[in-house]
Amino acid sequence: MTNKLKYFIGNWKMFGDFGSFKIVSKINQYSYKHQKSNKKKIILCVPNTLIHYFKKKLKSEFISLGAQNCHHHDGYGAFTGSVNASMLKKMGAKFIILGHSENRTEGETNQLIKKKIISALNQKLNIIFCIGETYTEKKEGKTFSILKKQLKNSLERKFKMNKIIFAYEPVWSIGTNKIPSIDELRNTIKFIKSECKKIFKTKKIPRVLYGGSVNRKNIQLFSTIYEIDGFLIGGASQSSKKFIDIIKNYYK
Ligand code: PEP
Repeated sequence: MTNKLKYFIGNWKMFGDFGSFKIVSKINQYSYKHQKSNKKKIILCVPNTLIHYFKKKLKSEFISLGAQNCHHHDGYGAFTGSVNASMLKKMGAKFIILGHSENRTEGETNQLIKKKIISALNQKLNIIFCIGETYTEKKEGKTFSILKKQLKNSLERKFKMNKIIFAYEPVWSIGTNKIPSIDELRNTIKFIKSECKKIFKTKKIPRVLYGGSVNRKNIQLFSTIYEIDGFLIGGASQSSKKFIDIIKNYYK
C-alpha cells in the first residue's frame, strides 16, 4: 500500500440536520484514532445550514468541513437564496465542491463554474472541482474531449493549482452503482493529470480523485490504481459506518 496522501471526501448533498452531528463526531473520532496509521485527509462537505454548527460542536478537528457550492458574486448583493464563498468561509468551510454534475444539470456552465472558482480562490478556499462525462458522451467516445473542455473552459494558468483538487465523476456513475473499469479509470485519471499539467504549465502532479458509487465493496478495486489521490463519496458518506468502512477497506 502506498504512503501517498489520500483524500476521503464526503459529499452529503441535501442531507442532514443538527442530529447528524453524531455522524460527523464518529468520523472525527475515527480520524483521530487512525491519524498515524495511514496518510489520509478526511473532509465532509455538508449543507450550508450545518457548517457553523458542526464546526462549533467539534472540539478538536481531525477532519475538515466543506461546502457544496456557492454563488459566483464576491460581495453581498441582490441574489435571493444565494450564499457566496466569503460567507461560507466565515462559517468554517475550508473546502468547497464546485462543478458537481447535479449543479451542471441545473444549468451551471463551464464559464459560470470558472467565476465560482475565482471567487472561492479569492477566499482562499480549497476547491474540489468536479468534471465528468455523461453516458451518451461516453458511448460516443467523447470522454476525453469533454473533460478537456471542462478543464480548459473553467481554469486559467494563473490559478493556484495547489488550491484545487480535481474530482473525476462520470455522470453515469453517480448514485447508480455503475463504475468504470479499472483500466479505463486509470487512463482517464492519467489523462486529467496530463491536461492539468498543460493548462498550469507545471511539472507538479495535480491531485485527482474518483467519485461515483464508491462503496465498501468496490473500494478495494480502486486501491490498485496508484494514480488516484482519493475519493469523493456521495450516498455512502451519509452513514458514518459506511464511510469509515470505505476507508478501512481501502487500506486492507
Ligand atoms: C457525488 O455525489 O459526488 C457522488 C459521488 O455520489 P455517489 O457516491 O452517491 O455516487
